[in-house]
Amino acid sequence: MMNKEGRPTTPKAETSGEHQTFTGNRALQMEEPLIFETGRLDVSGVDFEEPAPVASRLGSFARKGSMGLPGLTEPEVMRHYVRLSQKNYAIDAGLYPLGSCTMKHNPRLNEAMARLPGFADVHPLQPVSTVQGALELMQDLSRWLMELTGTKAVALSPKAGAHGEMCGMMAIRAAIEARGEGAQRTVVIVPESAHGTNPATAALIGFSVRAVPAREDGTVSVEAVKAVLGPDVAAIMLTNPNTCGLFEPEVVEIAAAVHEAGAYFYCDGANFNAIVGKVRPGDLGIDAMHINLHKTFSTPHGGGGPGSGPVVLSERLAAFAPVPFIRAGKTGLELVEGEGTQAFGRMCAFHGQMGMFVRALSYMLSHGAEGLRQASEDAVLNANYVRVGLADLMSQPFGNKPCMHEALFDDEWLKGTGVTTLDFAKAMIDEGYHPMTMYFPLVVHGAMLIEPTESESRASLDLFVATLRDLAQAALRGDADRFTGAPYHAPRNRLDETRAARNPVLRWTPPVAGVEAQAAE
Ligand SMILES: *Cc1c(COP(=O)(O)O)cnc(C)c1O
Repeated sequence: MMNKEGRPTTPKAETSGEHQTFTGNRALQMEEPLIFETGRLDVSGVDFEEPAPVASRLGSFARKGSMGLPGLTEPEVMRHYVRLSQKNYAIDAGLYPLGSCTMKHNPRLNEAMARLPGFADVHPLQPVSTVQGALELMQDLSRWLMELTGTKAVALSPKAGAHGEMCGMMAIRAAIEARGEGAQRTVVIVPESAHGTNPATAALIGFSVRAVPAREDGTVSVEAVKAVLGPDVAAIMLTNPNTCGLFEPEVVEIAAAVHEAGAYFYCDGANFNAIVGKVRPGDLGIDAMHINLHKTFSTPHGGGGPGSGPVVLSERLAAFAPVPFIRAGKTGLELVEGEGTQAFGRMCAFHGQMGMFVRALSYMLSHGAEGLRQASEDAVLNANYVRVGLADLMSQPFGNKPCMHEALFDDEWLKGTGVTTLDFAKAMIDEGYHPMTMYFPLVVHGAMLIEPTESESRASLDLFVATLRDLAQAALRGDADRFTGAPYHAPRNRLDETRAARNPVLRWTPPVAGVEAQAAE
């Protein structure tokens, strides 16, 4: 394929079907070359007069050649990026059943609140007397988070769940060091089913990781935890509800055993959406837990905005919370920056993601306590609705039992069909659905973890279940073709994902001889 300049574009993956088009476009599905291929290095989209020559003072730092940026007009740039954005799947486009990620609707009210100039335009270095309203909002959010979790302190600054894990574990390390046991307690217990960030966090800040296996039913027993507890253990990191979508029935006993051994209980609260208003993690005995505002409290994920992972802390850890935190002073609210505290340090330059704090509080206030509880109940109801709708076709690793906010299937039912979990997920793309979480948790063979969230309607769930049933029946009756080459209707068909991961080609090199390399080393 040549572009309009007669230069070759990126080789296109095979377009499927007999209805090939001249352009490579398929109706509104545009074939989009790289911006370097659309633009030309020798033109500019803007007509500037040739500047008068000036003597360079850059010496050896002066640029030696062209930067290799493509020249494009404004409409060309506009179309390029709008077309790319249209290739992106989004929660605003359809159901996004990614387990453990809580891809739920982000109410537009939150966006309107976050754009209020008094919140959107504040600068972190403004005098505190001029940002009293913003500080009050952060204090209100902190109060809601402590109330909902039954805890005594909160650090708002961590910028994602994984950053929150690091914050909580650093508070635990500070508490252990304050007891003079830093050299002795060097181990963190992590269940085998944990999210990869848990062992990574423990290892990153210098702990060694000791695994604890799950039982047949997917949960962790207090006996198994006791068997790995000892005077060398600093903490356990446990997810509840766990990554199999199950509430840990012995969580209170596990907390007691951990405390008795002189260790702390870190809870991965990424799945808090399942239990808000139903149970307070502080009452279960947790000492630290991160809350993904971008999951439970409906602030945008990923490309939609930065994450935010506040950490709540129990009384035992409250003193070690990082700075800055907010305190009522003589002349209003003030930011405590460290003097005279036991704070372990700080997590980032300023105070965290202000825009996300506004969105999360807006979500909380517009729902109220009752509404937040109902959201959790509906999230669990929806997951079970999907689970029951598929249970006669797809196998569940821990039996046909109720789940929390996500339904877990394995690939036992696919045995002998020639279809794998990956194939099944790819065929979902052809049907217009983002795949579910695959091959996680690792303890379940060929795992498919489906989290519909509370924001899907009954009609939306019915269509989703009907689609998955149709796919499942196709797999079971031997229609492997529908799967093994899928996705057939996506802009690109099946990619060699292993090669893409192992040998990523991240740099474009010009196809025409004589043009300089694009990027300076
Ligand atoms: C999402 C998630 C995390 C990490 O959160 P990020 O905001 O992506 O860093 C950690 N643990 C579990 C169980 C999660 O689902």
